[in-house]
Amino acid sequence: MPTTRFAPSPTGLLHLGHAFAALTAFEAAQGGQFVLRIEDLDPARSRPEYEQAIREDLGWLGLSWREPLLRQCERGAAYEGALAQLAERAVLYPCFCTRSRIAAEIAQAIEAPHRTEVADGTQAAVYPGTCRGLTSAERQRRIAAGTPHVLRLDTARAAAAVPALTFNECGAGPRGQHGVIAVEPARLGDVVLARKGMPAAYHLAVVIDDAFQGITLVTRGNDLFAATHVQRLLQALLGLPTPHYAHHRLILDALGRKLSKRDRAATLRSLRDQGVSAADIRRRLGLAVT
Ligand code: GLU
Repeated sequence: MPTTRFAPSPTGLLHLGHAFAALTAFEAAQGGQFVLRIEDLDPARSRPEYEQAIREDLGWLGLSWREPLLRQCERGAAYEGALAQLAERAVLYPCFCTRSRIAAEIAQAIEAPHRTEVADGTQAAVYPGTCRGLTSAERQRRIAAGTPHVLRLDTARAAAAVPALTFNECGAGPRGQHGVIAVEPARLGDVVLARKGMPAAYHLAVVIDDAFQGITLVTRGNDLFAATHVQRLLQALLGLPTPHYAHHRLILDALGRKLSKRDRAATLRSLRDQGVSAADIRRRLGLAVT
């Protein structure tokens, strides 16, 4: 009996892409459990009215979930504990780079920067590791001077501290990958795990909460396939169980782009207001209507 989850951020109204993800997760639970997790890590963008809208939209689609739901903004202590464990294993480092500094480093790199497929067909350069080699005296000096910083995972060190890893893909992955997938720990580079003003950054919060909520099957869009590599690495470092994964296709707009919160016309609320039914939504998404 799988436990699956839908984990939206309450930063806007849900659209057709969210409906597909939520329905997929709900149906994959097949008599097991379906949980809803509110990924409100970013206090500047998360709003209670969007959480309320998520409840309404999912209820309208015919979904029900285990209550109480989990809000990541209430999970700071768990994330702190995990960060302390990672610090103990010496796989974190403070990074003082601003976004513009990172962009400039990448632009000036003599060698072609390491690029990675972050989403379906979308390539991005990964963090070039500028702060990885700072001496501990230099780190302490900058921290003492109050220089803003984030904490990054040293993926090379982390990978060296654990055996070779795999995860189970039960879906199709972006390239039809299926079965046992070998983890490429550095696929996304040295990801950020902690940021000022947030209880944790995405990758850390997700692995902690998937374990805490007993998730055995993670269903989510193909755009997060690359993220699974580093999340599997974090599970190994933190001694957490590993769920199975089933990445699914993305719902695209008329131009073939992934739907985003900016696509107002595709929000479930506006479709509902236009008289579209939950069954119509299923048909539009190519899901069976019973
Ligand atoms: N909160 C993420 C999103 O809205 C989903 C995270 C996940 O499924 O792992 O895209």
